[in-house]
Amino acid sequence: MTSTSTSEVVKPKFAVRTFGCQMNEHDSERLSALLVADGMQPTDDLADADVIVFNTCCIRENADNRLYGNLGRLKALRAAKPHLKIAVGGCLAQKDRERIVERAPHVDVVFGTHNLGRAPQLLRQAALAGGGPIVEIMDAPDPQGAPAEPPALRQTPYAAWVTIQTGCNNSCAFCIVPSVRGPEISRPFSEIVKEVQSLARRGVVEVTLLGQNVNSYGRDLTKRRPLFADLLRAVGSVEGISRVRFTSPHPKDLRPETIAAMAETPAVCEQLHLPLQSGSDRVLARMRRGYTAARYLERLEAARRAIEDLSVTTDIIVGFPGETEEDFAATLDVVSLAGYDSAYTFVFSPRPGTRAAAMEDQFIDPEVVADRFERLRVVVERCALSRHQQRVGKVEEVLVEGPSRRDATVLCGRTRQGKIVHFVPDGDMSAIIPGTLALVRVTSAAPHYLRGNLECIVELPRYRRRIPVAAAG
Ligand code: SF4
Repeated sequence: MTSTSTSEVVKPKFAVRTFGCQMNEHDSERLSALLVADGMQPTDDLADADVIVFNTCCIRENADNRLYGNLGRLKALRAAKPHLKIAVGGCLAQKDRERIVERAPHVDVVFGTHNLGRAPQLLRQAALAGGGPIVEIMDAPDPQGAPAEPPALRQTPYAAWVTIQTGCNNSCAFCIVPSVRGPEISRPFSEIVKEVQSLARRGVVEVTLLGQNVNSYGRDLTKRRPLFADLLRAVGSVEGISRVRFTSPHPKDLRPETIAAMAETPAVCEQLHLPLQSGSDRVLARMRRGYTAARYLERLEAARRAIEDLSVTTDIIVGFPGETEEDFAATLDVVSLAGYDSAYTFVFSPRPGTRAAAMEDQFIDPEVVADRFERLRVVVERCALSRHQQRVGKVEEVLVEGPSRRDATVLCGRTRQGKIVHFVPDGDMSAIIPGTLALVRVTSAAPHYLRGNLECIVELPRYRRRIPVAAAG
């Protein structure tokens, strides 16, 4: 989509907005790389863009509402800039193509989860054709399309997401993912390791392995069926990679081999996101989660025994159809026993097309749900604060992300346990650039973050080794 003037090539600009999970964020990075390869340049400013792509998620109702709200706001921009092209891709587009076209007729291109690699071509077609929207949704990955993992335009030079698997073979009653992302497809083992090696050569020190159910990685590979544990060990031994994270494992598939690989591979961070969803066996069965609360706690306990200083986070749904006070009390019990470092809590919202949306006992008084949600929040925060307070006085290794968004005089970064730390550097703050590994002494704790003081720099980013470190003293 490159246009030429008499003396210079003016590259059209694109902006990508993401509504959803880390998988979506990473898809947006891949999409951005494809658009750059197609001769465009990125911009953050929607008003300045010639192409706007919304990459969507449909797991929560909130993501739908945000998408349609944002699309509505683009109408005026489109009227002022008739050449502007608007595309919607991702899970919501895969599921709701007709609705998008109906509710937002100013959208030019709709593409799904299986043909992200075709987005540049579809946008070109739309630019040439004008008129009605181009809608292309595939039921399975495009065999003729872009490679399974096209290169990504990474948001940070020191940390990267790496997709290891797409789709999901489970059938959780509340979840739309299997019907929009399709069955599990694992990327070849060697391809993933090569990508991580290449990232490490470019200065990346932290990778997060992404999949809907990472524990089942490799089951569908025919030649050799590597375990997720094998992948953790291989990625963790790549030279230059000092932190490996992953999301998300399904509790029913958390194997002893995975726990052992986490414990024995120094680069694998002491962090486990283990979605509970409910602490009631009755609700878990209706959710089709495949474990009981006792089984969940057993696996968590096994992980805690094997991995020193493990931080554990979770997801919990409040107000699932038919949830009684007794069911909710069971959730509170498990939350207290599990001792989470933090929890993502959600009020149930029925997603059309899921089993849960068709359950008859949908209605729970919204006031009751709000009250349960608040009681859960209090227990989660109390637990998180207590876990964080245990860290006060300790020295944590922090991967610096940059100045805090709230206070530019303070730096922020993450510990190996994934905890956000705000800390005050001595001296020249600008010398401690994102990607620096620093040691920070924790001085105080809040439920969602820690505060501390810089002790020393451990390592500067490899892409900026020669920068003098005035603040390191
Ligand atoms: S494991 Fe369950 S919640 Fe997770 S993506 Fe698969 S179906 Fe959805």
